[in-house]
Amino acid sequence: MIIKLDKIPEQGLHLTAEEPGDILGLEDDPAFSTAGPVRASLYAQVVDEMLIVRGTVSAEIRAECARCTQMFSTTVVDSGFLRDYSDIQEVEEVDMTESLREAIILELPRFPLCDEGCKGLCFQCGKDLNDGPCGCSNGDKRGAWEALDNLKL
Ligand SMILES: [Zn+2]
Ligand SMILES: [Zn+2]
Repeated sequence: MIIKLDKIPEQGLHLTAEEPGDILGLEDDPAFSTAGPVRASLYAQVVDEMLIVRGTVSAEIRAECARCTQMFSTTVVDSGFLRDYSDIQEVEEVDMTESLREAIILELPRFPLCDEGCKGLCFQCGKDLNDGPCGCSNGDKRGAWEALDNLKL
């Protein structure tokens, strides 16, 4: 997404753009992949020789559920996108692509869940408990979580 500075009137300019999901660079990410374009709806204004761009950036992505490991689709949104660019006297345009990528990457969920109530996998047999109980004796689930936490340490 390129913003041409001479196209921005004094009162500012509303801009929309759609960039291919590839700009996110998620090809090698095991937990996330792109599922659609990166969309930006921005308002650009030049104030005191500084370009100020604010608005909303969103992207459709597929993420791996941290509990059940199923891939699911979700929309990542940065509704508080705000960047400013100083030293624009000498330039004719500003490339926003890297800023859009960064905005989405920062909003990727740390602990993606396909559903808040996802039951995850059985620790004993590995069955996806969202599909129903697995028949293992229920045992002490808290103990199983603690054992897993200790393993990670
Ligand atoms: Zn899940
Ligand atoms: Zn089981």
